[in-house]
Amino acid sequence: TIPSKPLPIKTISDQQTPKTTTPELFDSAYETGTDSEVSSNDDSPPSPPTTLPQLAKAKGHYWITTTGAKILDACGGAGVACIGHGRKEVIKAITKQMASCSYASYAHFKLDPVERLSEWLVESTGGMMKKVYLMCSGSEAIEAALKLSLEFHHSWTGGSTTKRTNFITRTPSYHGTTLGSLSASNHFSRRLPFISSGILLESHFHPISACNPYRDQLFSSVDEPTAAYVSRKLAELESMFLRLGPETVAAVIMEPIVGAALGCVPPPPGYMRGVKKLCERYGALLVFDEVMCGMGRSGTLHAWQSIERPENGEEGGEVVPDLQTLGKCFTGGYTPGSALLVGHKIAGVMEQEKRVFTHGHTYQNNPLVAAAALAVQVGVIEREGLLAKVREHEKVLGWLLRQRLSKHPNVGDIRGRGLFWGVEFVKDRETKEPFDVGLGVAQMVHRTAMKEFGVLVYNGQGCAGEGRGDHVMVMPAYDILEEELEMIVDRLGKAVESVFEKLG
Ligand code: PLP
Repeated sequence: TIPSKPLPIKTISDQQTPKTTTPELFDSAYETGTDSEVSSNDDSPPSPPTTLPQLAKAKGHYWITTTGAKILDACGGAGVACIGHGRKEVIKAITKQMASCSYASYAHFKLDPVERLSEWLVESTGGMMKKVYLMCSGSEAIEAALKLSLEFHHSWTGGSTTKRTNFITRTPSYHGTTLGSLSASNHFSRRLPFISSGILLESHFHPISACNPYRDQLFSSVDEPTAAYVSRKLAELESMFLRLGPETVAAVIMEPIVGAALGCVPPPPGYMRGVKKLCERYGALLVFDEVMCGMGRSGTLHAWQSIERPENGEEGGEVVPDLQTLGKCFTGGYTPGSALLVGHKIAGVMEQEKRVFTHGHTYQNNPLVAAAALAVQVGVIEREGLLAKVREHEKVLGWLLRQRLSKHPNVGDIRGRGLFWGVEFVKDRETKEPFDVGLGVAQMVHRTAMKEFGVLVYNGQGCAGEGRGDHVMVMPAYDILEEELEMIVDRLGKAVESVFEKLG
């Protein structure tokens, strides 16, 4: 059902809505592009070289090609550019930090921006998290979370007697591209070239199925009540604990709101609370991967602050992880940047026993990452009240997407939180039958949207065997204007219609 249109949002006065660009421009942008691999950002497996448009610059909410095409940025690249491109205050803060100290080893000095950012982050969790490690990529943060889980159980609390070497993961899932983070990911096409070598840490990672109400009800004629569905999913997790032996499980790793692996799927109420209870019962750590859904993307600074939000009079309350990873919107793309946040359970032992995490990158706790994150988070998002904007825009974007696309015969599901929305495509709405993987439907929508209608959306390839459908994700900047949201949905709608008309 389509809700009545929400109240209009006031637009930010100092920005102007750019003129719509003609489709021809995008054709020429494609033609003059250089050969390159399909972006490693997109969710499809690497494919043979293709011609991409040559980027001249990025400004505000637009990508501008060397041919002058202006492409409306509806996904911040890979869900990164959360305050748009070219913000002067952020560039100034990073430049200032570069001038005073562009690099120092965290092992030699305490660095002011790192200290300030860490304090701010701890405070932003209401003190639920205690320690912060800064890194450069989401994969590094996940890698660190895996290692810290093991060091906590083995060296600090269990000594050599602990058997906690297993991780429970979900399938499908995506947590990164390094060997450890890829081992934690259940993303078939990305793992495929490495499976036969036996090099992935297969024997320590044990997947249960993702919590994906739309797909899980594929074959049932009557929708399962949410509470029954949640119990079924939690029973599956508990069975995995029991099968492995609860005393062997180091941690359970999941995205609180699933990003690229499924296309913006929030959990049903009660699921994460149940997961946390099981982790506590069996002595395992809970790791939340907020690389994509965190730092305001889903409406609160940390996604765990809203996943169990009270709905229909249900009990509310936060589910706090033991470890949390951040990335992408953390620095909004102004520098690389990620972080691992450590909760009381681990930090308490570290403090009491004077333990140090045996882990260190050259660029760990880097001052430029800290300066960028402070400028983006405090200097822009906090100062401009953009989290409230994300929550207001959630209603508008959800309404617009449903209004425009929910009746299309090939649109199976539209779901999301904050400015984190997925549109899933199906061959048949009744059976929810997905398209053949080889067809690359999501990529076709992405390319058509960019090439013919001048809007960039993020595509995720489906895989029937993995329980995921072709989808595109809409993840605009938090300071997007309502007129721009309308343009995004209108252009995406035209691209969807065009692709499926051609497919017949
Ligand atoms: N975790 C999630 C949920 C992600 O979406 C990603 C990247 O897309 C990663 C981890 C890995 O982050 P990075 O690509 O910065 O290494």
